[in-house]
Amino acid sequence: MPCFVRLAAALTLAATFSRPSLAQSTLDAQLPGLIDTYKTLHQHPELSHHEDWTAAYVAAALRKLGFTVTEHIGKYSDGTTADGLVATLANGPGPRLLLRTELDALPVAEKTNLPYASTVTTKNDAGQQVGVMHACGHDLHITTILGTAQQLVAQKSKWHGTLMLVGQPAEELGDGARAMLTDHVYDRFGRPDFVLAEHDVSDIAAGKVGVVSGPFKSSATSVDVVMRGIGGHGAKPEQTKDPVLMAGEFLVMLQSIVSRQNSPQQPAVITVGHIVGGTKRNIIPDEVRMELTMRSFDDGQRDAMIAGIKRIANGIAMAAGVPEDRMPLVTTSPTEYTPVTLNDAALADKFRAVAKAALGPQNLVETKPSMASEDFGEWALADHSVPIFCFWLGASDPAKVAESERTGVPLPATHSPTFAPIPEPALRAGITAMTAMSLALLNK
Ligand SMILES: [Zn+2]
Ligand SMILES: [Zn+2]
Repeated sequence: MPCFVRLAAALTLAATFSRPSLAQSTLDAQLPGLIDTYKTLHQHPELSHHEDWTAAYVAAALRKLGFTVTEHIGKYSDGTTADGLVATLANGPGPRLLLRTELDALPVAEKTNLPYASTVTTKNDAGQQVGVMHACGHDLHITTILGTAQQLVAQKSKWHGTLMLVGQPAEELGDGARAMLTDHVYDRFGRPDFVLAEHDVSDIAAGKVGVVSGPFKSSATSVDVVMRGIGGHGAKPEQTKDPVLMAGEFLVMLQSIVSRQNSPQQPAVITVGHIVGGTKRNIIPDEVRMELTMRSFDDGQRDAMIAGIKRIANGIAMAAGVPEDRMPLVTTSPTEYTPVTLNDAALADKFRAVAKAALGPQNLVETKPSMASEDFGEWALADHSVPIFCFWLGASDPAKVAESERTGVPLPATHSPTFAPIPEPALRAGITAMTAMSLALLNK
């Protein structure tokens, strides 16, 4: 090959490799604005059930992009209206893709010392003054969805179908998705063919994404147990049925559900996080109240664990000779419940291929299921007939993740007052992965 031809070929090759794709150059141009959006959202966190400002902000941004937006969607169990929103963009016949972001923040006083840290305080529903912070990173999710919307509008010729963006309130209380679905989101705006979301995480470096097939997050069930007895003088136990002793026995026996009744192949957790009973050392109270949280990946297993809790509580009361009308009360909360999040295996596989190509194989991490919970699983419906998929979005400084892996000391996780995502690489990876996945699912 003559020298000049070789040179020309080398230059062409160099140009091919160094020229950013159209999508990448659009994203580069949009990132500064998106980082401003992230910081604005970060400085305006709102508690669950009070997301009015955030919902209006997202609605305005999506209307600007040409979406048709409906606000105030969702009915809570107490009859109040939720701050849910649905934004649709029709682009010819084709599949319907739902992208979901949460809108709410947490009652946490921020301690990151970042220049854009939240200083917001408010009264919670119990009337206490609390700090408010996007400590779960839902501000990162909102910005990713807005950035993805920009990308998909700019690349409209590359896809067909309908985009349906959902701003969901009250994820932290677990009743936001249910409130929106109870308000007939799928009947009113169309049942999606696929539902996508992301969640940020502290133990993956910003710039990377994580994937898991099947169980992604466990179900969470809130159980209240009241061990009832017969109170009396602390010096005359023979005249009482002591619920403090029964509660102690119950706490120990409870551990046998996960260790002895469950299959070791099926992970589960039962934690008693709150216990209260009695007023004074020399009085045997007439009841002890306990609040439990229970996690599992299987609804049959969940039901068996609830039955086990009732059996143990009743058995202990019977052994203590508690009269029939003072037997324990075991109740599960109908509102504080989130179903299991099962990532559709085909969507997870597609995401692996798409994210590898878009971000590079070194930026895709295989992860394990989490015993934390969230209400994203509601969007699959109770019969899991709508395929859903949520990926992990790395949020932390890569050097700190490496240090944490070396020392074994975990980084401040979501819900911590010092949780501090690195916005630029996290947003870049999140928007790139979500846009690429959306284009793959709405491919012409
Ligand atoms: Zn959270
Ligand atoms: Zn969250």
